[in-house]
Amino acid sequence: MAAGSAPGPALLLFYGGTFDPIHNGHLAIARHARDELAVPVRLMPAADPPHRPPPGADAAQRTRMLELAIAGEPGLQVDTRELQRAARQPGVPSWSVDTLCEIRAETGAARPLALLMGADSLLGLPTWHEWEHLLDLAHIVVADRPGSVLETAMPAVLERRLQGAWADAPACLRERAAGRVWRLRQPLQAESATAVRRLIASGGDWQQLLPAAVAGYVAAHGLYGCGATA
Ligand code: ATP
Repeated sequence: MAAGSAPGPALLLFYGGTFDPIHNGHLAIARHARDELAVPVRLMPAADPPHRPPPGADAAQRTRMLELAIAGEPGLQVDTRELQRAARQPGVPSWSVDTLCEIRAETGAARPLALLMGADSLLGLPTWHEWEHLLDLAHIVVADRPGSVLETAMPAVLERRLQGAWADAPACLRERAAGRVWRLRQPLQAESATAVRRLIASGGDWQQLLPAAVAGYVAAHGLYGCGATA
C-alpha cells in the first residue's frame, strides 16, 4: 500500500464511465489505482442518455455487469449515484461536474476527492461541461491508454490549466482537497468497449476481453448482438 502512511484524510476515488460493457482494461486500471493510491475505487456507471434508447446495454444491465466484475475483489465498489440522480430528474443530462458537486456537498470542502479516467478522457476534458471547474472540485488520476499520448496530444488550453497541477507522488493528493493530477504508471491496456461490442456483433473472439462472469452475462442475455451471428 504505497500511500498508506500519507498525512491527511483518506482520498475518495471515483471512476466514472459508461462501462458498456466493463472490460479487463477497466478492471486492470481500477486495481492499479486502488493499489497505488491505497484507497478503494468506486466505479460509477453513467446514466442512460436521455430521450433515446441506450445504444448497448441499459443502465441496469451495465450495473449488473459491474457487480459481477468486482465480486470478490477487495477495494472495488459500485456507486450508482448518477443512476439515482437520473431517476430523480428524468431527462436531465448527468454532468460530471454536478456529480462532483453532489459528492462535495456530502464530504465538505476539505476532503480529498479524485476522478479516475483514461488518457483519452483527459485529452477530451475541454469538451466536458464546465470542465475548468472540475479541478476545483477534485483531483484527477489519469491512466495512460494506447493511442492517447499525453506528451504530444494535449490541447494547449488543457496544458495551461494543468500547469503546476502534476503531482510528484500519490501522497500529494491527500495534502489538498482538489486540483492535482496524478499519472498512474500501469502497463498499457488495449481493450475498449467499442471494440468489444464490435467483436461480439461480428461473432469474433471476445470472451477473453471481459471478466468471465461478465462474458457469461453477455452471452446469457444476448447483449450487443451476441448469438445473432451463430
Ligand atoms: P468506448 O470504447 O465505447 O469509448 P471505453 O472502453 O473507453 O468505451 P468507458 O466506459 O467509456 O469505456 O471508459 C470509462 C473510463 O475508462 C474512461 O475514462 C476511459 O478513458 C477509461 N478507459 C477505458 N478503457 C481504458 C483502457 N484500455 N486504458 C485506459 N483507460 C481506459
